Amino acid sequence: MPGPGAYWIGEEEKKEINEVVDSKYWFRYGNMKDPNFKHKVFDLEQELCQKFQCQHALATTSGTASLLVSLLALGVKPGDEVIVPAYTFVASYTSIIFAGGVPVLTEINDSLTIDPEEIKKRITPKTKAIMPVHMLGNPCDMSAIMDIASEKGLPVIEDACQAFGAQYGGKSCGTIGNIGAFSLNFFKTITSGDGGLVATSDKDLYERAFGFHDQGHLPNRTGVEVGNRLILGLNFRMNELTGAGALAQFRKLPKLLTRLRTLKTSLKEKLRGTPGIRFRTINDEAGECGTLLTVIFETAEKAKAVGELLGTGPIARSGWHVYSNMEHVGAHLASVGQPHGFGSYPKTDDLLLRAMNISVGVVDGGLGAGFGVNINSTDEEVAQVADRFRNAVAQTS
Ligand SMILES: *Cc1c(COP(=O)(O)O)cnc(C)c1O
Repeated sequence: MPGPGAYWIGEEEKKEINEVVDSKYWFRYGNMKDPNFKHKVFDLEQELCQKFQCQHALATTSGTASLLVSLLALGVKPGDEVIVPAYTFVASYTSIIFAGGVPVLTEINDSLTIDPEEIKKRITPKTKAIMPVHMLGNPCDMSAIMDIASEKGLPVIEDACQAFGAQYGGKSCGTIGNIGAFSLNFFKTITSGDGGLVATSDKDLYERAFGFHDQGHLPNRTGVEVGNRLILGLNFRMNELTGAGALAQFRKLPKLLTRLRTLKTSLKEKLRGTPGIRFRTINDEAGECGTLLTVIFETAEKAKAVGELLGTGPIARSGWHVYSNMEHVGAHLASVGQPHGFGSYPKTDDLLLRAMNISVGVVDGGLGAGFGVNINSTDEEVAQVADRFRNAVAQTS
């Protein structure tokens, strides 16, 4: 079961993609004056800049690639430490590791995003950057994080892969720090199957990220630039078919977020007052995506019992985003002397054992969100889901 954008794939995506198919020109670079070159990837980057009010955008093959080229652009080198939450998708960690850096896991708070107070404790002379992750569509406490970063002179790389379109204090998530990464995989807010984007207003970071994503080339090359390449790069270029799908989805983003926020408000109001639960803290109520509704129970036992009745469970028992469920990351952290394994981050462990995700737009068992509604659910279905939840809570008390 995918994210909300996937539920809304339709004629608009077909039209954009078919234009590229018919043009037979599937590569992102071309002659802008040639009517046969549809420049969908270029348009996607431009439209993101306009909508998100940033200077530069770069399309890539995935959120993971976006994180990697952003970290490399920031100059993360072997041995550098990057501060990252203990609750996130594995790619936040692996991108740091493949840049040569050391992920320094940090406790989360009631918002299920990184705790700014805990960031302070994790800063060492080796710290190179801070990577807040806007988990489950909820913006991090960016004003506190940016204050710490500027006080310590550290750059911020936002992992906005789960928060495409979210805003914090009126600014688009992914454009608040020095550089930000987005994902277009099938489970995200909007999708092109797979794909990613980078946003920054720093020209130097943009050119470096661009080079890492395309064999060291400068932005939007039209030929081979022998003599001008300053860095070594790899290939994470988005192709025109992906760009076409992403462009159609990106244009649906405002409408999609409005729908999700309405749905979430309705579900939340119906659950409000359920004994023994509270909602996670949302750092920007108007700006969050509304992809999931997270409830926090008083005890882990209660969360488990209610989850069993609903065919789901607490986040701690879900597959993908819990550090202690990532044996491969744990093995790496052990090898670099970092805390790992259940119990290493007790506040995070405690919260994830008591928290449950209810789907609103992202229906994903891997997130612990196999129970809930989806973007096309009717008012009646929302009411049914709320009743089932309240009944399960009542039955287990
Ligand atoms: C999905 C995700 C990524 C990686 O995105 P891909 O496009 O799947 O590579 C990175 N970070 C977070 C928090 C994510 O949820």
